[in-house]
Amino acid sequence: IVQWPFKASQRRKLNWVQLAGHKGNFKAADEGTILKKFSENEMQCFEKLKGDALLPFVPGYHGVVEKDGESFLHMTDLLANFDLPNVMDCKMGVRTYLEEELVRARERPKPREDLYRKMVEVDSEGPTPQEHSQRGVTKPRYMQWRETMSSTNTLGFRIEGIKKFDGTCRTDFKKTRSKQDVINVFTDFVEGNVNIITSYLNRLTEIWKALKMSVFFKQHEVIGSSLLFIHDHTGNAQVWIIDFGKTTALAESQTLHHDIPWQEGNREDGYLWGLENLIHTLESVSNN
Ligand code: ATP
Ligand code: MG
Ligand code: MG
Repeated sequence: IVQWPFKASQRRKLNWVQLAGHKGNFKAADEGTILKKFSENEMQCFEKLKGDALLPFVPGYHGVVEKDGESFLHMTDLLANFDLPNVMDCKMGVRTYLEEELVRARERPKPREDLYRKMVEVDSEGPTPQEHSQRGVTKPRYMQWRETMSSTNTLGFRIEGIKKFDGTCRTDFKKTRSKQDVINVFTDFVEGNVNIITSYLNRLTEIWKALKMSVFFKQHEVIGSSLLFIHDHTGNAQVWIIDFGKTTALAESQTLHHDIPWQEGNREDGYLWGLENLIHTLESVSNN
């Protein structure tokens, strides 16, 4: 039984929601903060972001901590100052795997049955005859297939999951692909509230400007990173850049455009192109 008034920690637990990743990857921490399972790569990103134009748009980073014998990245809980938040995770970019994953899968293919089953669940015609007979697909193959089913390839972003204030949660957006599909999902997410869309659009424009200025962005291949949309009934609406688990530094002197097509070897991620498409899509929501 939860006592009224809620203590801050209880309130935070009720608020906390995770729309992607393994459940074991996150732990509650001190007031207004969370712990994400340590990754060297993500830690380096947070360190490098400290002096960057993107800093105002990423969760506060409070260093590495140990808990129950495991290491975690300590960061600000972005939901903490919302009242019954609605949350959406939008994964950015035209591809969701690293080029090196592709190379590895080609050299040493490791077909997985769990991914085969996930593919069949969405589309029984998804697997090739060979994949059907071995009852397995490799991870990059699964990810590439998901990119063609969703809006990743066609729009440069895709909706991963949504949790509404009333507790309902949806992660079944694997086939949300067309601009109109995305418009419908966003319209439902904000329950037709155009003011929320306007706030989101302002924030996305700020993020676009910061990306144009960011040295970090120029020097990294940004794969699997998301924009986290959060709003509540008070009209508070924010967008944050999260998940640098697969954001990889380029070689010295190499930089990316982020808005030109990907060809294997050029490491382009389509992040900026995706953000521009996302902005245009939300503009259509507010004009509906
Ligand atoms: P994956 O790589 O599968 O996307 P992951 O383990 O790298 O997962 P994240 O994507 O960083 O994890 O986060 C998973 C979910 O947890 C997000 O979709 C979001 O709902 C929530 N989340 C992550 N970071 C924060 C944060 N700082 N504040 C609030 N919620 C967060
Ligand atoms: Mg993620
Ligand atoms: Mg991740």
